[in-house]
Amino acid sequence: MLTLKINDELNLEGYEFKIYEDGYKYSTPNSNRSAGNEKTLINAFKGYDAINEWWEYNFNILENTQKQIIEAVFPDIHQQGNKRLKQPERVYNVALKRLAKTQEELMKPCSRCGTTGHYSYNQRSGTVCFKCSGLKYTLPKVTAKWITKVHKYFKTLET
Ligand SMILES: [Zn+2]
Repeated sequence: MLTLKINDELNLEGYEFKIYEDGYKYSTPNSNRSAGNEKTLINAFKGYDAINEWWEYNFNILENTQKQIIEAVFPDIHQQGNKRLKQPERVYNVALKRLAKTQEELMKPCSRCGTTGHYSYNQRSGTVCFKCSGLKYTLPKVTAKWITKVHKYFKTLET
């Protein structure tokens, strides 16, 4: 089972997410992230709500196909009370790994490495195949039909 849940011991004090007309500010006990203009405050969240809203904010800026894939592999991802630790981009990578494990059930064999996950050496990634990132399988064309199939596959796994 995936560990997407936040440790219950987590100290929620110090988590704050503020959304401005022109930007945002996200603070945790150890870091601060902000972008744009901190002028007109639209909404502010604290504690657990701040973590959740920050997650949704980052989810919303992903590409559409990435969002669809995450929602198909993790059907309950938006459910209230579903605390999350991994940021959406990382959740997407986990989703790809889970898809790759189904091999040809849901994915296509990587045409570059022929499902070895490795190819000729390069400075950046060593011998890891850059087409499939070493997953050995790649996404097929993402269609509504395929998304439905993925959704069904992972829904069945859950029960
Ligand atoms: Zn490959």
